[in-house]
Amino acid sequence: MQYSYFDSIGKSISKLGFGLMRLPKISENEDAIDREEALRLIDLAMKNGVNYYDTAYFYHGGDSESFAKEALSRYPRESYYLATKLPGSYMRDNNIHTQELFEGQLEKCGVDYFDFYLLHAVNRDIMKTFEADKSYEYLTEQKKLGRIKHLGFSYHGDYDFFVELIDKYKWDFVQLQINYYDWEADNAKAYYLALEERNIPCIVMEPVRGGSLHKLNPEARAVFDELGDASYASYALRFVNDLPNVMVILSGMSTYEQVEDNLKTFNEGKPLSTNEKEAIEKANYFFRRNFAIPCTDCKYCVEHCPANVDIPACFSAYNEYNKSRDTDDFKRSYIKIPFERQAHNCIGCGVCVSHCPQQIKIPDNLKKVKVLADEKD
Ligand code: SF4
Ligand code: SF4
Repeated sequence: MQYSYFDSIGKSISKLGFGLMRLPKISENEDAIDREEALRLIDLAMKNGVNYYDTAYFYHGGDSESFAKEALSRYPRESYYLATKLPGSYMRDNNIHTQELFEGQLEKCGVDYFDFYLLHAVNRDIMKTFEADKSYEYLTEQKKLGRIKHLGFSYHGDYDFFVELIDKYKWDFVQLQINYYDWEADNAKAYYLALEERNIPCIVMEPVRGGSLHKLNPEARAVFDELGDASYASYALRFVNDLPNVMVILSGMSTYEQVEDNLKTFNEGKPLSTNEKEAIEKANYFFRRNFAIPCTDCKYCVEHCPANVDIPACFSAYNEYNKSRDTDDFKRSYIKIPFERQAHNCIGCGVCVSHCPQQIKIPDNLKKVKVLADEKD
């Protein structure tokens, strides 16, 4: 296993971090964790040197933190680093405060301290909630008390505010969405460089863009197939692993095979060759042409939808169609979504939009899904 070491952090951390947001589930349409299988995945990762585990208040409908306790409490506390996050949108919508949430999270995770603690999914709007509640000040106090070892934030907002934020407060690290698609398309490069210039270590989330850089479309796959039999995900992981200011790369692993494949990538730790870099550029070109709705399947929108539409599942079916242009295939995937959660249930209220870190116009895109689903055979 490759490890990173940053003087400002003072810890040897596995480059591969386990994101506890896409654990195996008991069924496709439910968020409940298949605990037996998920524990098997954690054990495989622990056995192979993965020491960074990332959860959050919201993941798996609020069950990920309890699962982190169940899984990690079987190991000595000093053998793993645990990260979780303060949910600003939940604070705003429910008038709940930092202290109450933080104390609850320690208890739920079964720990006395968090190694890494983040303000979650910060943007201009969410930061107002954190500032009104003096979250940064409270968490800095907790850091002095040793209940937080390193304080940072994850970000989904505009660049100017990002720079303002990293200069206004002292941060130990920052978590960004970086992958070869977003590097240019979403300007991830500029955010990354802003951190590098300031020597703030970067944690990467969504390196495979919610799995979409693994699924790819046939033209993009063909580019990688010419190079050999390495998985498509491994190229995406190696792209971010080559960035020198990256401390950890989070992967939300859902299957035993994914853990094995990611372990292989980070055990080998091979930098990309010139050929491979060119292949990524080419594959990205083909991928971009067919990527219709940039949903990462984070599910942040779902719990806010009064109609309980399975928004990411609708978008996933649509994106698959956009690659294959096979209407029958689309309809087969689409009818697997329970009828009461399909796109036609959307009432267009727009509540979901402010919860989407990718700033997707969800109601408009659901209309496109509905039109396609309604097309006559
Ligand atoms: S706009 Fe549609 S999908 Fe979004 S919250 Fe409202 S009903 Fe749900
Ligand atoms: S629509 Fe946005 S919030 Fe919802 S799952 Fe996709 S990326 Fe996440």
